[in-house]
Amino acid sequence: MRTPLIAGNWKMNGDLALIDEFAGALKNTALPQGVQIALALPFPYLSAAHERLPDTVLLGAQTLNPADSGAFTGEVSGRMLKDVGASLVLVGHSERRSLYGEDDAAVLARVEAVLEIGLTPVLCIGETLEEREAGDTERVVLGQLEAVLSALSEGARQGLVIAYEPVWAIGTGRTASPEQAQAVHAAIRARLALWSASLADAMQLLYGGSMKAANAAELLAQPDIDGGLVGGASLQTDEFLAICQSAG
Ligand code: 13P
Repeated sequence: MRTPLIAGNWKMNGDLALIDEFAGALKNTALPQGVQIALALPFPYLSAAHERLPDTVLLGAQTLNPADSGAFTGEVSGRMLKDVGASLVLVGHSERRSLYGEDDAAVLARVEAVLEIGLTPVLCIGETLEEREAGDTERVVLGQLEAVLSALSEGARQGLVIAYEPVWAIGTGRTASPEQAQAVHAAIRARLALWSASLADAMQLLYGGSMKAANAAELLAQPDIDGGLVGGASLQTDEFLAICQSAG
């Protein structure tokens, strides 16, 4: 069976005080056995989080530059992220795609760089409201999936986590219904099965988009939803830990 994974994405939010608040809350909260927990933090906080949070919380970054090093002012490489304790990197988040022009080729280059350095890419895919209303959800989502996975070897594909995040549900308070989310997750898993049955069986598929304690349990109860990528609610310690509890 697939291990549930609840990953918080702080985006450009949070501070050292919030890391300490998490560390304190984790001391007092028994997390369910067998649930993986991760936090994708802004770069400057990764080192402190590595020192202050228990090893049971996996650390992640929210993007990277695909180059290993060089004259790329302002950029951060996978090697640097690994150095400061990251084990996951979000790639292709819709905010990166829409605000920073990352297209499928840029997303692929980043996924390859993350795999190359031995970290886990969390590949984010999802349709806009316009695309959903035009009946294009599967075409768009599977297109984003194929653009990356068809370029990877079977072994490399096994190293990914995939997050389905409908753009219209991100930060809007408008969560996909469990049925809507399950339908897309099932389509993603069916596409994965065309590459290989074991890939489809093993792949952790996360749902993201206005997930919170009040709706997590019914989303996570869906057969093809293996966890969550949580934005706003991951900034509230109690809320995030309650989501983690509901994955157990
Ligand atoms: P919200 O949970 O704030 O909708 O954000 C989801 C997201 O983008 C996580 O990557």
